[in-house]
Amino acid sequence: MNVEIVKTPAAMRALSDGWRAAGKRIAFVPTMGYLHEGHVSLLDEGRRRGDILVLSIFVNPTQFGPKEDLSRYPRDLDGDLSKAARAGVDVAYVPDAASMYPAGYQTFVEVEELQKPLCGASRPGHFRGVATVVLKLFHAVQPHVALFGRKDYQQLQVLTRMARDLDLGVEVVGLPIVREADGLAMSSRNAYLSDDERLRALALSRALLSARVSFEQGERDAGRLVDCARQTLHLTPGVRLDYLELRDAESLAELHGRVARPAVMAIAAFVGPTRLIDNQLLAP
Ligand code: AMP
Repeated sequence: MNVEIVKTPAAMRALSDGWRAAGKRIAFVPTMGYLHEGHVSLLDEGRRRGDILVLSIFVNPTQFGPKEDLSRYPRDLDGDLSKAARAGVDVAYVPDAASMYPAGYQTFVEVEELQKPLCGASRPGHFRGVATVVLKLFHAVQPHVALFGRKDYQQLQVLTRMARDLDLGVEVVGLPIVREADGLAMSSRNAYLSDDERLRALALSRALLSARVSFEQGERDAGRLVDCARQTLHLTPGVRLDYLELRDAESLAELHGRVARPAVMAIAAFVGPTRLIDNQLLAP
């Protein structure tokens, strides 16, 4: 079956008004396209949870810094639409930047505390862009449930908080990280990696795995868990660490001493010019 393509917020909203009036449950998966199996896992769960499944593809300029990869972010609309059709997507919402941010645009949403650490510290303004675009997408699609990957763990926490704080009435669901057979977290940005960089990129998941193994063997000291991951990471040359931190899984507050509540170990690192992220939940 063909996927219907919708290009403007007004047209999207008119469709979702109709579905809502007919009592349909709308499931929504926002993406930046260049779909891989991680995205497909979200679509599959969306198909199970909604009568109508909407996918959005929008490379959102307001979440990229001036020196980031906006202009060369990988795109493949035709490939994405075939994957979407196979996953049972009803509508692909593919707005352009001009309809999302018309001249004079100046309204933004900020999730004040959760946006600060980790990726927020290295990418100033990133989560302001993410929260704003997702709120705009929610207003157009009017979903009952929206599905996000835990790959972008901080993003999931930011959006869960936003939905709660602004009474959006959207259930925000987080799903597990989908990995390649060798452990690399799937990401559209993996397309940037040369063969050599692709091998080095395994340092991230290996570092997290070593911390997880240590945690499962009973290690509960936050500093020693971070050291364990850092040592594993440094076994691979050519990987430049941006951050490696253990934080409270919900508030993202810094953790010191003994891990007594669910925690997340989050990592960001440059492999060549490509910045990759990954994370691992550690739950006592
Ligand atoms: P993106 O297109 O990178 O903005 O991602 C769109 C959605 O897919 C976000 O909710 C991501 O967290 C999710 N996602 C990306 N990679 C993965 C992955 N490897 N496993 C699960 N979800 C993912």
